[in-house]
Amino acid sequence: MSRAILPGALVHGQPATLGVMGGGQLGRMFVHAAQAMGYFTAVLDPDAASPAGLVSHHHIQTGYLDEQGLAQLMQRCAAITTEFENVPAPALTTLGAHRPVAPGADAVAIAQDRAAEKAHFVRCGVPVAPHASLETPAQLAAILSEGGDLFPGILKTSRMGYDGKGQIRVKTREQLSEAWAQLNNVPCVLEKMLPLQAECSVIVARGADGQMVNFPVQLNLHREGILAVTSVYEGAVPVALAEQAVAATRAVAEGLNYVGVLCVEFFILEGGQLVVNEMAPRPHNSGHYTMNACDQSQFELQVRTLAGLPLTQPRQHSPSIMLNLLGDLWPEGASPAWDQVLALPGVHLHLYGKLSARPGRKMGHLNITGATPEAVRATALQAAGLLGMQAF
Ligand code: ADP
Ligand code: MG
Repeated sequence: MSRAILPGALVHGQPATLGVMGGGQLGRMFVHAAQAMGYFTAVLDPDAASPAGLVSHHHIQTGYLDEQGLAQLMQRCAAITTEFENVPAPALTTLGAHRPVAPGADAVAIAQDRAAEKAHFVRCGVPVAPHASLETPAQLAAILSEGGDLFPGILKTSRMGYDGKGQIRVKTREQLSEAWAQLNNVPCVLEKMLPLQAECSVIVARGADGQMVNFPVQLNLHREGILAVTSVYEGAVPVALAEQAVAATRAVAEGLNYVGVLCVEFFILEGGQLVVNEMAPRPHNSGHYTMNACDQSQFELQVRTLAGLPLTQPRQHSPSIMLNLLGDLWPEGASPAWDQVLALPGVHLHLYGKLSARPGRKMGHLNITGATPEAVRATALQAAGLLGMQAF
């Protein structure tokens, strides 16, 4: 007997509707994937102009903890997912009491807290950077007296950090109290600064029945704490490391009894060791290439896991490079030269419908596909040049 929510079926007296907490670009791409499969969609986001709210059948415009908003979302939807990890866990708990919610509140709560997240990685036998929790003056004193091997380090807020925000580099012990004060003495994790050779990530999708599939390993280049370029093709990451990263990601998902799409980010150290950095309980920026380079996108898998549909192992059919399009690329009052970029072969433009471009704001991405890694790289570099992006 299938318990799947089938598109077009009547559920609670209305056409099968999938809901998402959060109306950012990830929600928008989820909505697009759900609608392509014939689902109705509902988005809860306080912003009238949210990228997902603009394209959804229903937009419930309230705060994430608003009781009426949550009630409306439940009334509309057969199942509900989330598009950003800072959705308050209590909201997911409320929703989960009445509707299938994936990922569940427990998994999201762990991913929301760097300390809990690291403890989970350790439980799963996956190596993490040397670190210490910093929540109390006593812990500060302990780090100052015994934590010498954590310097130079990075102090990161335990909660709400993203795109390198909420982080301060601390070269020496002497700088620690000052840095913590700058972060308002909120709970933090001090992490040893590691010599990185590269960064990579793995995305898995796991169903409620425990079935799990994965995408290939993504090689990620960050600039100023923000993802800039993702490259995915044979040889981008050495095979042995790639296998290790996939196995570690699967163990992390399994250990959470996770349902949904999960991304785990890794550091590749100069010595070639793999160390886990963090996870995101949702589709990830480094998985956007799947929209054009794989036979199923990460958003389609998010729909399938939420609706209880079967999962089949996705297959990458083209080497690919994804370039993030940040607000910095927008000339004053004008648009970047999309017509020139789209004259290149295998270029796919994705814009999120955001009306104002600010530096560092994620406005969209370019997926570049081609027959060979060399061809993809050449096109990606040309596109970057046309847009005024730094080469890589
Ligand atoms: P965010 O949640 O903002 O993505 P991350 O913890 O992933 O924060 O850090 C952002 C980036 O900073 C990483 O992708 C990496 O480039 C760099 N970084 C973070 N932690 C370390 C570390 N321990 N050693 C070296 N570089 C790091
Ligand atoms: Mg990160």
